[in-house]
Amino acid sequence: MKEACGVVAIVAPGRAAAPLCYDALYALQHRGQESAGMACFNDHQITVVKDNGLVSHVFTESTLRALTGSIVIGHTRYSTSGSANWTAAQPVYRSAGPSGFALAHNGNLTNTAALAEGAGVLVASMLSDSDLVAELLAREVDAGVPLDEALGVVLAKAEGAFSLVVLEAGRVHAVRDPYGFRPLCLGRLGPAEAPEGWVVASETPALDTVGASFVREVRPGEMVTLDESGVEARQLLEPAEGPERLCVFEFVYFARPDAYLLGHEVHTARRRMGERLAGQAPVEADLVMGVPDSGVPAAEGYAAAAGTPFAHGLVKNRYIGRTFIAPDQDARAEGVRRKLNPLRETIRGQRLVVVDDSIVRGTTTRALVRILREAGAREVHLRISSPPFLWPCYYGIDTPTREELLASHHTVAEMNDYLGSDSLEFITLANLRAAIGVGEECCDACLTGRYPAPIPVTLGVARG
Ligand code: SF4
Repeated sequence: MKEACGVVAIVAPGRAAAPLCYDALYALQHRGQESAGMACFNDHQITVVKDNGLVSHVFTESTLRALTGSIVIGHTRYSTSGSANWTAAQPVYRSAGPSGFALAHNGNLTNTAALAEGAGVLVASMLSDSDLVAELLAREVDAGVPLDEALGVVLAKAEGAFSLVVLEAGRVHAVRDPYGFRPLCLGRLGPAEAPEGWVVASETPALDTVGASFVREVRPGEMVTLDESGVEARQLLEPAEGPERLCVFEFVYFARPDAYLLGHEVHTARRRMGERLAGQAPVEADLVMGVPDSGVPAAEGYAAAAGTPFAHGLVKNRYIGRTFIAPDQDARAEGVRRKLNPLRETIRGQRLVVVDDSIVRGTTTRALVRILREAGAREVHLRISSPPFLWPCYYGIDTPTREELLASHHTVAEMNDYLGSDSLEFITLANLRAAIGVGEECCDACLTGRYPAPIPVTLGVARG
């Protein structure tokens, strides 16, 4: 699974906003490493800088100096829809209206064909679903509709997941879809009694990095408008029925451990997943270890609850770039060796509990079990801190088809055989929710098949 994207918007009166945005994007780098970009408004015009690559590669001191102005939006991208070419990097710019506007998007729309057809847009001419939203907005703005109203008109017809930031002359709008699939939070620069600016970001660590205080999460269907005079919030779209549906995998895997989502710290939630797994699926073992990064806190929780020693048994190479080999099954398995190396002295002769966050195709887990056995592990007991991944995601996470999902056509016993482990257990959905501290207020469609929002009908799967 790959992360979707990260978005940022900053209004910092009297300050250069681009260096702040750079720091915030740096804090959101884990959400997308394909491309990065910023759009800045400087009293006269909007300037966009974007390219393929990491934040630190795309922006230099001189590009940041060229991005003058106190209002900015930014984006880090992993493509879940459309082209991975640099032209699809965000923010997307349109010259409509007096100043033009720029848009950055985290999520995935599920009705792009219908949206394009309804507006007479050739879907093949669009670089991505974000490009399509920008095109539809531009048409409204060119017809004389103010951008904030155009957002209401266009997004009311959009289905799926979106956390959007949109820059126009002098202000920024941030909108979250009616289900709240992808996170979005509001922060304040300076003290509450005399604010010095405002920040919207995908995750709270981006606020911390620029010295902003967390104010609150943007509510499902809400639009927050930031300008030099402050913040204005209104309910742009009718929220969906029932609780919000933040992606449960933000807690399991995507979000940074220091992020707060729905009021819960992600690291603590991951630790508790391990504690719950230990109670649910105990096993006689010598050592508990986690698969870096997100499996490690869950492994610490498992070890503490089970009374079994915890150890770091795998070293992760954090500097792996894109692979230049076709991403087939064998290549993925080999990719594990490039990324994870065992600590042989720790592992040799031990009965291991190995905690990982998820099993998708199973290829990498299978390769990992082989690596641990080659390093001398006597037993390998897999404990997974998410339930079996049975259905594809249509809300902004890049997942394989149902046929490629190991759990969708194998029992747990069959998976255990295929992976070569001594035992395999997945956390139950009830234990996962209890560990996070939530009830129904998370999307779990890829685990249950209960899709809260419509999914593409051409796929022949009914709305859950
Ligand atoms: S389907 Fe799964 S991955 Fe997609 S938003 Fe829902 S919980 Fe997250």
